[in-house]
This record gives sequence, C-alpha cells and structure tokens, in this order.
Amino acid sequence: MRDSRIETMAVHAGERSPGPDNSVVFPIYQGTVFRSEPGESYHDIQYLRLNSTPSQAYLHDKLAALEGAEDAVATASGMAAVTTTLHALLKAGDHLLVGDVLYGGTHGFLTAHAERLGWTYTFVDPHDPASWAAARRPETKAFLVETITNPLMRVGALTEVVSFARAEGLVSVVDNTFASPVNFRPLAAGFDLVFHSATKYLNGHSDLVAGAVAGSAELVGRIRETLNIYGGSLDPHAGFLLARGLKTLALRVRAQNANAMALAEFLAGRDEVSVVNYPGLGDHPDHAHAKALLSGFGGMLSFRLAGGVPAAESFLSALRLPAVAPSLGGVESLVTRPALTSHAGMTPEARAAAGVHDDLIRLSCGIEHADDLIEDVSGALANR
Ligand SMILES: *Cc1c(COP(=O)(O)O)cnc(C)c1O
Repeated sequence: MRDSRIETMAVHAGERSPGPDNSVVFPIYQGTVFRSEPGESYHDIQYLRLNSTPSQAYLHDKLAALEGAEDAVATASGMAAVTTTLHALLKAGDHLLVGDVLYGGTHGFLTAHAERLGWTYTFVDPHDPASWAAARRPETKAFLVETITNPLMRVGALTEVVSFARAEGLVSVVDNTFASPVNFRPLAAGFDLVFHSATKYLNGHSDLVAGAVAGSAELVGRIRETLNIYGGSLDPHAGFLLARGLKTLALRVRAQNANAMALAEFLAGRDEVSVVNYPGLGDHPDHAHAKALLSGFGGMLSFRLAGGVPAAESFLSALRLPAVAPSLGGVESLVTRPALTSHAGMTPEARAAAGVHDDLIRLSCGIEHADDLIEDVSGALANR
C-alpha cells in the first residue's frame, strides 16, 4: 500500500481487509469507551479523548499513509493541531523560529499566548536563509513555516528550512494546509513534522472542522500524549466524514490545481486586472523554486482589479458561482477579501506593507468546470 500512488492510497490506505463484520467501508465506532485490561497504560485505554478507538486508528493510518509518515494523529481542528504540536515541542524557556507570514490563528496564538507560556519566538523571512542564523538562540527548539502562504501564495525556501533545522538540531515543522499532500509531501522533503487544517483540502467539502499531524512515531507519540491531556481530540463521526473526504483528495486537488491555473492565466490576460498572485504563473516571485518543490501549484490565487475597493466590491457582488465566504479547499469555489476577513485585525498600513491591499481578492477554486468559472468571472469583470 505504501508504495502505491496517492490516488490509490487515498482510497485504500487504512482500510482493514476484511473490515469489521466484512464491511468494505470502515464503520463509525461512536462508543466513548471499550473494555480494558486492569493495569493498562493510561494512553492505551480505548477512550475517545485518548485517540485510541478503532475509527480513530483507521483515520490515523490513512492520514499517515497520505503523508508518507510513520504515524499520524487527528485533532478537533487545525488550531488544535497547531497548539498541541507546539505544546509538545516547547516548554517554558524555549524559543521558536517562525515564518513571518502565518495563518491568522497561528499568529494570534503566538502573539496572545506564547508569553504567558514562557515561550519566545522570532519571526523570520522564509525567503532569506542568510537571516536565520542571527535569529537562532541556544534555547531555540523548532522552526515552523507554511508551504504556501496566505494570501499572496508565497512559497519560502523550504529545502533550506529543512537543512538549516537539521544542521542546528531543530525540529522542522510545516503547515501544509494550502498545498495538501497531493502537491507537497513535506516528510519526503525532509521536514520532521507536517500538520494540516483538515477542515480545508483534506476533507474538501466545507462540512467539518478537523486537523491532522504526521511524522515519526516518536514525535507523533509525544503530540498524541499532549493531545490526550489537552483534550482536542476528534469525534469519530467527524473522523468518518474526513476519511470519506480523503478518498477523493487526489481527484479534487488536481481539479482545483487546474482550475486555479486556468483562472490565473485568464485573469493575467485581462486589462481590468492589475496583479495576479499564483505560484504557477511565470511572473510569480517564487515560480522557479515552487515548480521544483511542488507537484502542483494549488487551488488558491489572489488578484487586484484596476479600480481598487469599489471595483472589488462590485465584482464580488456580480459573481454568481463562488460564494463570498472565508475558508478554502472545498469542492465549491469561495471568494473573499482578506482585508475584511483573515487580515481584518491589522491596520490598513500594516496590511499594505505586507502586500495585503484592501482591494485584494482571494479565490479558493472548487471543482466546477473551468469554463463556467471563467465565464462567471468574465461576466463579473464586465459588471464591476
Ligand atoms: C484554516 C487554517 C488553520 C486553522 O484550521 P481550523 O481547522 O480552522 O482550526 C491553520 N492553518 C492554515 C493554513 C489554515 O488555512
């Protein structure tokens, strides 16, 4: 199974053959607890919060196979994956190197909670390896980056992050949510740990919240024991839906990659559009190394219209297919203005300095037909 291609693993990995009661589709074991042996170790008791029940084990096996990991654990949300991973890696007095463009929730966690936990962190530019040594401290324990960052779809020097972390004895961790294992396999690239908001591409249907962490048995074991204590464990019903979503991961993400590329090329050719941010375009600042690192450029792009905020507003209200909503990675296209959603907490000046202009539009491409999306976008440009 582990030697199969990702399409095959998505369907078959983790499946028991035969399944319980000869089931073909692994059932939902919704029970809270299972009979246990006297004296069994706490972390091995079969109890939902301890992430040790049959449906959870099944999902963990599927997640681990998709990331090419020894082990994986599912969490109650992407944020539970972030916070549990950092709690497992850092103790009071430790320091973290972290990419300076981060998912808002991760950024908010560090800025609001690191100090009270006794952790320190330094934001570093993931595109500038020469700057990292000066930020490293004797107490630095880990280096956290994201594969493709929101909303400009930047791809940092990920190979250099891995080699720097190795040389310095740090645990390298990557949030692979935007890429998904279809487009990037961090562990094969040398990262120690990968995590996801499984709410996005892994599930792919915008109908649950979940997270996942994958890596060596030793590191995932530490994270699972931390999760068992902090309690951000995934419910089996959501886990069942996630495993079902995972079966079509490769098909969905390939369709989303293709739609994003088609829309990026269409938008780049239009006079009404002033800039398009998509790593698959030749003029994106990270195109060359993104092409070398990734097997697909992802389903996310962003762009600005000539005409600024008023043009963006009327464009969004003229669209028919994509719903105006945050979040991403589902089969339906979604469109949002990051200045009003993910980056609303920043001042307009800070946003502009980060390249997140108030008129920036972000599109999460679904699996609709590319021609229908292009027709819709084209119509909305005419009406803007
Ligand atoms: C959504 C997201 C998260 C947080 O995930 P939730 O499932 O909403 O808790 C973390 N990282 C990235 C890149 C995300 O897009």
